[in-house]
Amino acid sequence: MRCSVPSILDARSRPLRDLRISDTDRCDFRCVYCMPKEVFGRDFQFLRRSELLTFEEIARVVRIGAGLGVRKLRLTGGEPLMRRDLERLVEMLAGIDGIDDIAMTTNGSLLPRKARVLADAGLRRVTVSLDSLDDAVFGAVNDVDFPVERVLEGIAAAAEAGMPVKVNMVVKRGLNDGSVLEMAEHFRGTGHMLRLIEYMDVGATNGWRLDDVVPAAEIVALIGAEFPLEPAEENYRGEVARRWRYQDGGGEIGVIASVTQPFCGDCTRSRISAEGRLYTCLFGTKGHDLRALIRGGADDAELHAMIGRVWNGRRDRYSEERSSLTAGVDRVEMSYIGG
Ligand code: SAM
Repeated sequence: MRCSVPSILDARSRPLRDLRISDTDRCDFRCVYCMPKEVFGRDFQFLRRSELLTFEEIARVVRIGAGLGVRKLRLTGGEPLMRRDLERLVEMLAGIDGIDDIAMTTNGSLLPRKARVLADAGLRRVTVSLDSLDDAVFGAVNDVDFPVERVLEGIAAAAEAGMPVKVNMVVKRGLNDGSVLEMAEHFRGTGHMLRLIEYMDVGATNGWRLDDVVPAAEIVALIGAEFPLEPAEENYRGEVARRWRYQDGGGEIGVIASVTQPFCGDCTRSRISAEGRLYTCLFGTKGHDLRALIRGGADDAELHAMIGRVWNGRRDRYSEERSSLTAGVDRVEMSYIGG
């Protein structure tokens, strides 16, 4: 339901509109740029169940966030669908006043089983990550030999359940940049928007180097040379992807250029980790412990005040400062905070 609560503003006048919720730090893939096996191996200590926010605790944070202006939610992880009975959480979130969009970012592995119940529970849209259509390349990315075909089945299941689907492809030079054209060709005309993402320096375990980044401009030029493109106008302030339209009517692509064309000035996103730490930037170093407050018996007014204080004091614009100030800064992992 629409409600008219005005959003609070941060120290750079950015409203709080979106909340990304990581519901688990676990994933069934070991993508080499995100959860490399050498770090996230058998001995890695994931969060215990008791450390995760419960669905009720997440819903409470969302209710309070909605009172501060949050309108859009995105479930992520880890792999969000590894959390059992996630549809129960979706249903709880869908019933909260003020929330008008619930999306999910997923690797798609469990979508064939889950798409219908999630859609029925109130999930509106999904973004499925897929980095190549070539099994050899995709296997080298996910590092668990997960076949392309099963991700495509997940995409089909989501579409059949009535949810619009976007496809996220992180492009890393020398890993999957050779798959860009085939991906563009495959998703052209399907209605599933392909979004090409510059490889980002999130976390500390992926050995990120600037040389590994394929700039968005290069990706657009590559696709445009084969299938002519023209820029599409922004849909709303803070839209993450810059959109390009196929001139022949084959739909659109999006490019997310957070390295070469940072967009911090329009960022309206906050994030909570699976254990309930609130972050105001994907590149945050330390979160604010909501779980301690919740489990310590804080009432809604105290939680409201804490989240409000954190957002009011937010000044971060990491991506815009990346080159000058941030080398050597500790950063949380993408699998912990969610994409
Ligand atoms: N497991 C889910 C998935 O695969 O979509 C959700 C979590 S994953 C961390 C969210 C998104 O972040 C994925 O599309 C993934 O490809 C992207 N991602 C992870 N590490 C990245 C990096 N270093 N740079 C850019 N995108 C990254």
